[in-house]
Amino acid sequence: GLADVPLRIDGLTKRFPNGHLAVDDLSLRVERGQVLGLLGPNGAGKTTTLRMLMGLVRPDAGDIRIFGHQVVPGTPALARLGSFVEGPGHLPHLSGRANLELYWRATGRPLGESRVDEAVRIAALGEALDRPVRTYSQGMRQRLSIAQAMLGLPDLLVLDEPTNGLDPPQIREMRDVLVAYAATGRTVIISSHLLAEVEQTCTHVVVMDRGRHVAAGPVADIVGEGDAVLVGVDDP
Ligand code: ATP
Repeated sequence: GLADVPLRIDGLTKRFPNGHLAVDDLSLRVERGQVLGLLGPNGAGKTTTLRMLMGLVRPDAGDIRIFGHQVVPGTPALARLGSFVEGPGHLPHLSGRANLELYWRATGRPLGESRVDEAVRIAALGEALDRPVRTYSQGMRQRLSIAQAMLGLPDLLVLDEPTNGLDPPQIREMRDVLVAYAATGRTVIISSHLLAEVEQTCTHVVVMDRGRHVAAGPVADIVGEGDAVLVGVDDP
C-alpha cells in the first residue's frame, strides 16, 4: 500500500500570485532506498516542488503523500517522516557538534531522539566535529547541514542542491554520504541543475523543465539519452 511509498505526488500545480506557473501538473513516485535527483535548469520549479512537499508552500492543485500521509501545508506532523535543509545557517564560532545540538533543541523534540553520533558518522565529519565551523571547508559545511537534516534519521531526507558549490572530490564525498544514508533503508531526494551531479549521486532521476516533468527513470537509462533529455521533450 501507499504507506510503504516514501513519496507520491499527483497532479501537483503551483501558480504564484504574479501569475507565474512554477509547477505544472507534476506527478512522480519514489520508492524506498532510492536516491532521487530532481534535475532541471534554474527556474524549472525544483525548489518550489521541494517546498510544497515539505508543506512550506501551498499548492493550487494536486496531492502529495509521504508514506501515505497527505501533506497539509503548515502542519509540522511530517517532521518525523521528512527533513528538509535549505541553507547552511550555522553559527561559525561554535563547533559542529554545538551547532547540531543547538539545532536539535530548536526543533523542540526530546534529546533522546537525536542521533548525533550516527548522523556524524554517515556525514563523515570525523574530528572536525569539535572544531569551530568557521574553520570548515565548503564541503564540510554542506555535510554539517546534511548531518543536521539527518539528526532524527528521517525516513525521507529532502535536500535542496546539496552539491551546490562543491568541487568534484567533494561531490564524490557527498555521493558516499547520500548512498550510505539510503543504504539504511531510507530514501533521499535532492535537487540539482547539473546532469553530472545527478549522475554521480543518484539512483533515479526526474527531469523538470518549466514546471513540467519531461523524463524519469533510473539514472543509467536517462543519462544514456544524453543531452536530448535536457532540451525538453514532450511528456511520455
Ligand atoms: P533554481 O535552481 O533557480 O532555484 P528551481 O528549479 O528551483 O530553480 P524555483 O525556485 O522553483 O526553480 O522557481 C520556479 C520559478 O518560479 C522561477 O521562475 C521563479 O522565478 C518563480 N518563483 C519562485 N518563487 C516565486 C514567488 N514567490 N513568486 C513568484 N515567482 C516565484
